[in-house]
Formats: sequence, structure tokens, C-alpha cells
Amino acid sequence: MVRVLVCDRIDEEGLNLLRGKGFQVDVKLGLPPEELEKTVGGYDVLLVRGKTKVTRRVLEAGKGSLKLVVRVGVGLDNVDVEAARQLGIQVENTPEATVSSVAELTIGLMLAVARSIPEADRTVKAGGWSKEKFMGSLLKGKTLGVIGLGRIGCEVARIARAMGMRVLFYDVLDRSREAREIGCEPLESLEKLLSESDVVTIHVPLTAETRRMIGRRELSLMKPGAILINTSRGAVVDEQALLEFLREGRLAGAGLDVFEEEPPRSLELVKLPNVVCTPHIGAQTVEAQREASLLAARKILRFFGRMD
Ligand code: NAD
Repeated sequence: MVRVLVCDRIDEEGLNLLRGKGFQVDVKLGLPPEELEKTVGGYDVLLVRGKTKVTRRVLEAGKGSLKLVVRVGVGLDNVDVEAARQLGIQVENTPEATVSSVAELTIGLMLAVARSIPEADRTVKAGGWSKEKFMGSLLKGKTLGVIGLGRIGCEVARIARAMGMRVLFYDVLDRSREAREIGCEPLESLEKLLSESDVVTIHVPLTAETRRMIGRRELSLMKPGAILINTSRGAVVDEQALLEFLREGRLAGAGLDVFEEEPPRSLELVKLPNVVCTPHIGAQTVEAQREASLLAARKILRFFGRMD
């Protein structure tokens, strides 16, 4: 019998799919590292989200039985992928499940910044009614610059096109097929994208190359009064530089779901009136969580040749 150890809270649907196929699924949430090391031996699969740290020690403790680690979600920051490779343990994740949820939040942040929706809401709730203060700007007819036309970037571009925006993108890979299908225009440099866009949205993974890819120089290339949206990873943007640009009014605003440190230790940036922020909830929808758990379960079934 295949034994699966579940260490983080995962939607029941995927777990039930595994149980239905005769897998033994043990849910043991919040194990401290040394407890996890003691427990993992004898399990074939370790199923986690982002909370449990799957370190080399954990992987070594599972040696002999552990064949597969599945991270329900996107990043693999909490899994020592190199150690797993050395130990012959396969690592999978489920990035496909959250695409629409992150894309919709991205569009939501764009609208929230362009129309100051959170601040307007606070005003009305406080008994205020200052219409003049809330002169917003229209997105229709404006130019959106997408950095990284991958899964999420494509979905954001599709929705933005449907809203009547012109969409430009910059990607290190050839995305001409997707661009033709969506109706967006490739640019050969990040600099050009920054200088031509009214709204810039970031959808690249965090790598050595993308860390701080939006710094002081890049922000200074953006149109005065442009909007920056980041739902990728906080460290892609130099937050100190962004704080200065927003404070000086050189950018109209920013929508941020992700931060270099989460939760952010300093609240200077998030408290600016022209910043709308959310606590890394891009993937936090009922549908995305259910889909991620089902996808993880299917990946496990496929690994053991049990997909019919
Ligand atoms: P993806 O791999 O499908 O797409 C990333 C794209 O970025 C690719 O097309 C790639 O070629 C491009 N890219 C990589 N380096 C680049 C560079 N230096 N310059 C320009 N383009 C570059 O990834 P995805 O599924 O679309 O996800 C994008 C990111 O969104 C993830 O890596 C993750 O960090 C983030 N994310 C956030 C949440 C959230 O809750 N806010 C949820 C899911 C994903």
C-alpha cells in the first residue's frame, strides 16, 4: 500500500481521491522539524504546501521509502530540490492550479489602484462623501506592460485585452505564439516596456536574474503617473526605491500582493495612501485550493501508475 504523509492543510478533495484509490493518507499537521524527521520514515510520498520545510535532513530521514515530494502550490522555496535530486526523490508542484486566481487578483489590484477603491470604501464607511478626491483614471484604452508572459502573464493579458487595453510584454523566452493568440505586442527590452506602459504588471519567477529587476533605474524609466502591480515575488522589486518613487508622486500608485519579507516588518510602504496591498492571497480562492489538491493527487496517482 502506498503511504502518503500530509504535513500542511490541504483541501480534502485531493486526499479523498487518493483514499478512494486505496492509498493510506495520514494527516499530521504542524510537526516540528525533529518530529517530521522521526515520522517520515516508511512513507512513500510527502505532501506539503509552503509551510513545512522539506530539508535535506527530512529527505535523508525518508531514505529507503520516500519516492516523491509534492508541494501543493507554486514555489519550491521550502523544498531542498538539489538534495532530493541527489537522493533520487522526485519533486512535483502544482503551478497550473492557481493561474486564474492570481490573474484575477492582479486585475483587481489594477482597478483598486486606478479608482482608489479601498480608500473610497474607508471614506464612505467613516460617513464621508468626497467625490472630488476620488477622480480616478480609466484602464480602457491604456497600455499594460506585462513582464513575463508565462501562465499568469498570459491570463492577465487576455483579461486586459477584453477590457480594451493595449498589451505589451517582455519575456526572455519566445512567446510569439501566445502573443498572436492573445493580441499583445512583444518588446525587445524591459526598458522599452517600462517607458511605454501606463500600468506595469510583474509575472516572473524569483531567480538570481529577476531579484531586484525593478530597481531605481527601472522605476525612473516608467511614465510619470504610471501604476506598478506585483503579484509575483516581493524581492523582484526594490521596495526602498519603490517607496521613494511613490512618496514623491513619480508613480501614481502600486498594487502589491507580495513582499520581500512576509509579513513586511516595516509598514512604511504599505501605509502609503497610493498603495493597495493584500497579504499574498493570489492563490487564495476556494477553486484554486481545490484544484491544486486534485492536481497534486493526480500527480501522485500518475507517479504510481494508478491513473485510469
Ligand atoms: P511561468 O513560469 O508560467 O511564467 C514566468 C514567465 O516569466 C516565463 O514566460 C519566463 O520566460 C518569464 N521570465 C523569466 N525570467 C524572466 C526575465 N528575467 N525577464 C522576463 N521574463 C522572464 O510562471 P507563472 O505560473 O506565470 O507564475 C509567475 C510567478 O507568479 C511565479 O513564479 C510566482 O512567483 C508568482 N505567483 C504568485 C502567486 C501569489 O499568490 N501571488 C501565486 C502563484 C504564482
